[in-house]
Amino acid sequence: MTESDFVALWRAFYDKVTAKRDELNQLDAAIGDGDHGTNLARGLGRVVEELKPSGSLRASCRMVGMRLLSTVGGASGALWGSALVSASTVLPDEAQMNHETALAALSRGIDQMRARGKAEVGDKTMMDVWIPAVTALESGAPVGDVAAQAMSSAEATRPLQARRGRAAYLGSRSIGHVDPGSLSTALWWEALAEVVD
Ligand code: ADP
Ligand code: MG
Ligand code: MG
Repeated sequence: MTESDFVALWRAFYDKVTAKRDELNQLDAAIGDGDHGTNLARGLGRVVEELKPSGSLRASCRMVGMRLLSTVGGASGALWGSALVSASTVLPDEAQMNHETALAALSRGIDQMRARGKAEVGDKTMMDVWIPAVTALESGAPVGDVAAQAMSSAEATRPLQARRGRAAYLGSRSIGHVDPGSLSTALWWEALAEVVD
């Protein structure tokens, strides 16, 4: 992946989140406070305004993380932001990286999300999408297949009862709704598949 792919990835993700902002808000209104689409679209808007190739994937990834930390807010802003800042530390101070480095960065990012959010697969959070997607990529699955699987993983959160985040306060009333953070994470994988395939 080159730095221009990295820039294109965040633009594609911004476009997808903006297109689904109302749907993400509605999903969050059902099991949370209704702001997930607005939160992410706001933060990603700042990111696409500022993100320009800088010659360093490490610096660019860190900038995206810092921007999401300061502008998204809520649980998702803290998780996305801290994961990206953490992932940036294994990226090269160059404009290109190989597949192994990209995998190492993803793995570092989800370790950070796990440490911070304490959610595992089945808790009805974005980890239900992140963990199987990174595992599939590590086993050599093509990114397009991983993105399709990520969308299925998001849909598969519908029957679950939330055990982490705001939705957990609803107990069994969280059952029957797709987790908004899982859907937005699946959109990120779709954006990645568009950029690198
Ligand atoms: P908030 O709940 O603070 O309003 P958002 O609405 O932006 O934040 O994000 C909610 C999403 O964050 C949830 O749909 C879920 O996927 C994710 N989330 C919440 N808590 C956790 C957690 N502890 N670990 C992982 N993901 C979480
Ligand atoms: Mg919310
Ligand atoms: Mg909120």
